[in-house]
Amino acid sequence: MKYIYGPVKSRRLGLSLGMTLTPYKVCSFDCIYCQLGKTTEKTIQRKVYIKIEEIIEELKLWLANNVEVAKNLNYITLSGSGEPTLNIGIGELLLEIKRISSLPVAVITNSSLLVEATVREALLLADLILPSLDAVNQKIFERIDRPLEGINLEEIIEGLVKLRKEFRGKLWLEVMLVKGINDDLRQIKKLKAVIEKINPDKIQLNSPVRTTSEPNILAVTKAKLEKIKEILGDKCEVI
Ligand code: SF4
Repeated sequence: MKYIYGPVKSRRLGLSLGMTLTPYKVCSFDCIYCQLGKTTEKTIQRKVYIKIEEIIEELKLWLANNVEVAKNLNYITLSGSGEPTLNIGIGELLLEIKRISSLPVAVITNSSLLVEATVREALLLADLILPSLDAVNQKIFERIDRPLEGINLEEIIEGLVKLRKEFRGKLWLEVMLVKGINDDLRQIKKLKAVIEKINPDKIQLNSPVRTTSEPNILAVTKAKLEKIKEILGDKCEVI
């Protein structure tokens, strides 16, 4: 299989069958904490990186050969080794998955393209969207996510607010916290105000535990994560 991997047991999604929509590390960000290593192509250009027919053919084959495993899947997850919304066919892919399967579909995104109405519209058939937002200050955002030049944090936030209003499914916002970079409590209070505007169903706090793109990326202590969780309120959980 070239585009489908797993299923993997994940803390956030249970048993999830992964699907990649881009070649390795084609992404609009180059996050310092990325577990996949350095971004090889940093871009915001949407195009057919991988043909949707090819992904669907693989999925059909996988489902035919794994009838019993498929019964236990919690999600088919569009994520993989790059930013999935860069594939211009993501809406068509969601439609095709819904045609051949009744499994819930999740999309993991770095939120960079959500300001585009066509991208938000393409995601409407998903059951769950897991966007990320690591900072509410442009400088901190650039330091942690290393976005393509020109990507504006205000626009990302605007895209998230609009997505929440348009999307009927579940929205779980992920915040990846790195010690000394985006875990300052004054910033967390500003983050809280922005999250209230976005109004996700859940806020999931994460901190790097595996090998990261850059060396010396430190996880936030469990005690501090709990403190931040307390500040962010009831919908927040540490994953
Ligand atoms: S957005 Fe995701 S895939 Fe892209 S660099 Fe960041 S962690 Fe890696």
